[in-house]
Amino acid sequence: VVEETVKLLSEMGCSRISIGESTIEDRELGSDTKNAFAGLGYGLLAKKYGVKLHDFNDGPFTKVDFGDYSLEISDHALAADFLINLPVLKTHSNTKVSLGFKNLKGCLRTKSKMFCHHRELPLDSFICRIGEKLSPQLTLTDGIYALEKGPAINGKAHRTDVLVASGDMFSADVTGAQLLGFAAGDILHLREYAASHGRPLDGSDTEVHGGSVEEYARPLEWDWKWQEDDSGPDAFKRLGITGLSFPKYDHTLCSACSYLNNLMLVSLIGAFKGEPFGGIEFLGGKNACSGGGFNKTFLFGSCAIRANRDNPHIRESVKIKGCPPTVSGILRALNDHGITADIEAYKLYRNSQAAKYCDQSGFMEDHFHCE
Ligand code: SF4
Repeated sequence: VVEETVKLLSEMGCSRISIGESTIEDRELGSDTKNAFAGLGYGLLAKKYGVKLHDFNDGPFTKVDFGDYSLEISDHALAADFLINLPVLKTHSNTKVSLGFKNLKGCLRTKSKMFCHHRELPLDSFICRIGEKLSPQLTLTDGIYALEKGPAINGKAHRTDVLVASGDMFSADVTGAQLLGFAAGDILHLREYAASHGRPLDGSDTEVHGGSVEEYARPLEWDWKWQEDDSGPDAFKRLGITGLSFPKYDHTLCSACSYLNNLMLVSLIGAFKGEPFGGIEFLGGKNACSGGGFNKTFLFGSCAIRANRDNPHIRESVKIKGCPPTVSGILRALNDHGITADIEAYKLYRNSQAAKYCDQSGFMEDHFHCE
């Protein structure tokens, strides 16, 4: 979709095209935006069409005033003559959907992204207001695949073959939400936007061309089920894993910590040898506060460490430092405390997430590489 968009723009005479993105950076794993660009073959777009590639993480940024707070937004996004927003059609474990509005969070400096995972202010409210500020001229949602239980790779992609394009991001997102099986009113950032801009949530002010929403709608799950007593995801119950507390993530856990949270869950599954863990708990995010009752409390990241500073209920704390922590730091902390975990097992898990699409008709790797 990116390649075809560039081609069309070029054919229409646009000579100054740039692509901007900002991934989570993991220096230890060598993972960053530039690697993503290289993996997607965007270098070819640079060569063939003169496209400039901007890793938004490199800045520059402008501090933009939102009244109660300010956020640093990429100058490249702010200065664009014509901003094209290219989200994919996916569900999200916090905001239910991640479409045009949510995609724009990628234009923020990392620190500002983290600020949006605020203790008191809802993430959806930040999402709504960033959308108001950037207000793209075109939103084009790539729904060749739709992601269930997104936003990460442990979700499940479905081939859906639909694109949504609109000059009005709200209309594009109301339609995108409906395609994923949600009423727009279920999505808090769309509800907030509708209330402050006098827009209906039922799509009645949007004309749909090229097919009906009902024809393409595919209701997908967005949430990961968790055990009510906080002893981990439902998968732990199925596997008979007991003897630990692992409360569900909340919106205060940033994306950078979220994917590492998955590493810990997978590591615990790998380390389980049929015996209950010895009364341990894992806490992450800004609201995670131990109520006690455990032999050891793993505090995952600076936020959880700060939230539990001087917490008298904690018998022994294991501080996994960092914002976010590193993969090696997490594995070291687990191993130092008798939980056998290694990166190879995690790599196998990650590979299995990719392998689940192999030999499945409709899943084409070509869709993820420029030709
Ligand atoms: S420790 Fe994790 S949750 Fe806290 S600000 Fe850093 S990345 Fe976000």
